[in-house]
Amino acid sequence: MSLLELDGVHAYYGESHILRGVSMTIDEGEIVTLLGRNGAGKTTTVRSIVGAEPPEVRGGAVRFDGQDITDWEEDDVVMGGIGVVPEERRVFTHLTVEENLKLSKITTGWWNTVRRRARGDGESTMDQAELYELFPRLEERRDQEAGTLSGGEQQMLSIARTLRLPDLDLLLLDEPTEGLAPQIVESVVSSIDEIADRGLTVMIIEQNVRQALKLADRGYVLDQGRIVHEGSVAELRDEDLDQYLVV
Ligand code: ATP
Repeated sequence: MSLLELDGVHAYYGESHILRGVSMTIDEGEIVTLLGRNGAGKTTTVRSIVGAEPPEVRGGAVRFDGQDITDWEEDDVVMGGIGVVPEERRVFTHLTVEENLKLSKITTGWWNTVRRRARGDGESTMDQAELYELFPRLEERRDQEAGTLSGGEQQMLSIARTLRLPDLDLLLLDEPTEGLAPQIVESVVSSIDEIADRGLTVMIIEQNVRQALKLADRGYVLDQGRIVHEGSVAELRDEDLDQYLVV
């Protein structure tokens, strides 16, 4: 049984039909990439998985760990073990790195999750010491205001904050390397690799095929709301994907 399964998912923004029967699976321990250019529907796929609205899923199913989570709300999905690092980096710019790591997600939804978890028994997926080990640059800058960090450092902080959520099994990263300088891209990518080594299953959304294929075990290519290719990284490398991707 796969950890995550999308089975013919159709998603809409109002009457606008965006995902047109997306099916994909992620097994425990894998790093799977979802590739596709601007507007292909990658973020819509992530939002459909986590129950963020919009979009609205009106057909097909999302299953996580054998349970049908299609109609679950975002809080419950997070509590169920799926963490998301959204495309827009979420950090508190006026707080220091360390203060950011003491808090968790910003939106009310996430706050509720964290509060409820705090009352329950869940523990952070990674504690502060582990996060500093994973992102030494954050430790060096622990007293610096997050708003003064570079784009790459803010991305690291955004990933680290998500890992403060309790008991995650799956981490969804929406274009984590977008807009970053090449040197810092390498560093973010190797941290993601390390996160996977520590036992999290990872789904990484990318436009940049080179980065994604360096990291992933398998991948899917999305175009106009449909999966047009899938396979191992080696298979995807052999395909002529230029028309669907930024190469
Ligand atoms: P990008 O790399 O630009 O983020 P993407 O592959 O993630 O692209 P999506 O953001 O999923 O693409 O967008 C897919 C389509 O859905 C686009 O045509 C976009 O205009 C549309 N769309 C996205 N969000 C909304 C919304 N809130 N309301 C209406 N349409 C939307």
